[in-house]
Amino acid sequence: RNGLSKERFILSVDVGTTSIRCHVYDKEAKIKGSCATKVVSLYPEPGLVEMDPEALWQGFVIVVKGAVQDAGIHMRQVEALGISTQRSTFTTWDRKTGVPFHNFISWQDLRAAELVKSWNRSCTMKVIQGTMKVLHLLSRQKRFLAASLLVFSTQHVTFLIAILQNQLSEAVAEGNCCFGTVDTWLLYKLTKGLVHATDYSNASTTGIFDSYQMCWSGFLCSLVSLPLSIFPKMADQQAAMFGQCCFDTGDVKITMGTGTFMDINTGSKPHTSVAGLYPLVGWKIGSEVVYLAEGNAADTGTAINWAQELELFSDVQQTSAMAYSVPDSDGVCFVPSFSGLQAPLNDPKACASFMGLRPSNTKCHLVRAILESVAFRNKQLYETMLRETNIPINKIRVDGGVCTNDFVMQLTADLFGRKISRPQYCEMSCLGAAFVAGLGAGFWRSQEDLKKLQTTDKVFMPRGAAQPGRAAGHLNGEYIPVLQSWERAIRRSMNWYS
Ligand code: ADP
Repeated sequence: RNGLSKERFILSVDVGTTSIRCHVYDKEAKIKGSCATKVVSLYPEPGLVEMDPEALWQGFVIVVKGAVQDAGIHMRQVEALGISTQRSTFTTWDRKTGVPFHNFISWQDLRAAELVKSWNRSCTMKVIQGTMKVLHLLSRQKRFLAASLLVFSTQHVTFLIAILQNQLSEAVAEGNCCFGTVDTWLLYKLTKGLVHATDYSNASTTGIFDSYQMCWSGFLCSLVSLPLSIFPKMADQQAAMFGQCCFDTGDVKITMGTGTFMDINTGSKPHTSVAGLYPLVGWKIGSEVVYLAEGNAADTGTAINWAQELELFSDVQQTSAMAYSVPDSDGVCFVPSFSGLQAPLNDPKACASFMGLRPSNTKCHLVRAILESVAFRNKQLYETMLRETNIPINKIRVDGGVCTNDFVMQLTADLFGRKISRPQYCEMSCLGAAFVAGLGAGFWRSQEDLKKLQTTDKVFMPRGAAQPGRAAGHLNGEYIPVLQSWERAIRRSMNWYS
């Protein structure tokens, strides 16, 4: 189209757990065209979650072409491409042929649960936990080891690779094994095998990257007898936190999609956690590194989708009104643990459960219990963050599909006693990748410019704040007995699959 031919755009792709989406953004960060396709997860055995690398690449190509077509622009008008992906998910492939040795192993995969549990119980761990008490005396390198070894999780790639070791040993010995997260694989395919690279932010989610030293951890590699050479080099980029313009220390963003990911900007220092928060590289732009501490809850959207499968409702949009239609959950507690409970509970063997069921319960009570559990996990993560980092919170922004749920958002604001802002477009990973790509290409000039492009759909204020004599978030107090019951349900669900 002639009128558009001089205009330039940023393409951005978000490879989520349920879908791959591509948006075309203009200079005002408005979406000009979009395309999405489903991600097909494979479940070869209970607890195993995989994806076909070739199918993922094909899906990527489809959405990029589709979005460009939908925007009615030409590929030549694309200034830069940003890629944001689900993290910790990885595959390995043959350096010579580019053929994967196995499917992508998803961050939801539990095959390492047994190994993780035995490590977490081991004597080594006890020694390290003891060491944490004198953390301030440790060198930076030892701090990383302490932080990363303190609470292992099934998302630590280290253990998954250990399980695959036999399958990979020949290729590793011949120097032909390439390890890659989703971004690495897509970049490898985009460059026809020329570039084997990742970015710091993605690398730091694998559990095998030393965020303190900014390099792959030789120690963790030696733990599973892998040479450092299988790991990719790094390039720079980033996602949802960046899309939310959480550029300042103390900024918090909560992404609630398939799982919940809560991140706090900890500034120029990585945070060392005892409760299972993970120190991540937020982004590295030029020589500036910004760190995040992240806590996650694996089952947010998964619990909601499961309830839909059971026909508790036909459309997720109904759930907020269903929860509001009853005064409380009538004593029902839901434990959202299809993939174990993460920080601060750190129990891969916990089961999902409904407790306190009564004949008087309706679908609305069950739905309310599920939505409450999402907000309760938010509260647990938030309080862990406050307690551990001691960083004053600046602002809290939310994104992801579940943040469109008013009930969850209002209860979360009540329980935090803080206001929470929801943007107009909830697909922040895509926008964040576009922002980073656009900054890199000079399409946008500064982080201050990006802040001006931010949109807010709704601000959730903690209820009761305006009433005299009541502290902000007084509902936090009213929820204490409900929370206590829920915590009991959590305790009873822990260590279920022994
Ligand atoms: P991901 O990026 O992990 O694929 P999304 O951010 O797209 O996930 O969020 C998808 C999830 O959000 C789905 O599980 C869907 O059921 C849930 N969801 C979407 N809208 C609502 C809503 N109004 N209430 C509750 N859950 C919702």
